[in-house]
Amino acid sequence: MTIRGIKALLSLALGLGLLSGCQAATTATKTTSSQSSQTTKRTQKATQRHSTSQPYRHWHSVKVVHLPILMYHSISSGNQLRVPASEFRTQMTYLKRHGYRTLTADEAVYALKTHRVPQHKIVWVTLDDSYKDNLTAAWPILKQTNQHATINFITGFTNKKNHLTLADAQRMKASGVVDFQSHTVRHLDLNNLTYQVQLSELTCSKKWLDQHLQQKTAVICYPAGRANQQTIRADKQAGYQYALSTAPGIATSTQSPYNLTRQRVTPGMSLTAFESLLTGIR
Ligand SMILES: [Zn+2]
Repeated sequence: MTIRGIKALLSLALGLGLLSGCQAATTATKTTSSQSSQTTKRTQKATQRHSTSQPYRHWHSVKVVHLPILMYHSISSGNQLRVPASEFRTQMTYLKRHGYRTLTADEAVYALKTHRVPQHKIVWVTLDDSYKDNLTAAWPILKQTNQHATINFITGFTNKKNHLTLADAQRMKASGVVDFQSHTVRHLDLNNLTYQVQLSELTCSKKWLDQHLQQKTAVICYPAGRANQQTIRADKQAGYQYALSTAPGIATSTQSPYNLTRQRVTPGMSLTAFESLLTGIR
């Protein structure tokens, strides 16, 4: 069979949900339904604790929202994508001491969409790839410093040893300091895939998160930041409102919603360099 033939077959299988997280979502629902309902109650409690009936009533309008979106991956050490826990702690403590408000994904979407902010100093902390150390290293630090982060979750990786499971995600979400958005099903470079396979990666991961975490997933984070014009069409068809890239810069409400820029945090970064990611001033 030719490569084109294999791609067409794969595309068809994905479209039918045979190889993707779409099918996995149904299976996992059956095995964890009672656990899910307990977690739902906890999540509702956490939501009540962290919101009011009019959560945005004190927010004010600005001409353009400037939102630094920090990009982390693993909280550990070993390579340029890993930030050690000690540094993550120092950075979260910095945000707290300097009066930054770490937005939830819902708040970030609201701010960018409505051009309204709760205060001048805002930041959105994101962690890509749903590594297990987000639970063991990042989560305790977020709870201790009372800062919020969004984990961009790979829904097809929940059985992999170094990645978060569904139960991990539900537990973390219930704490109120972490929420979850999509990082696709299999973490493939979207720009190399056909439109149908891209759409499947986007739709199936969203469906999985929506079902299991009782939410309306609004944000897709592109694996390795890779996307093309077809990806943006697929984002819209799948129901996403915003997409995160890996291109550097402070995101604004005037940027394309399907290519928000982010500020990469690298290991060994000084606090001065960290500060310049937040302010855009070097
Ligand atoms: Zn990734």
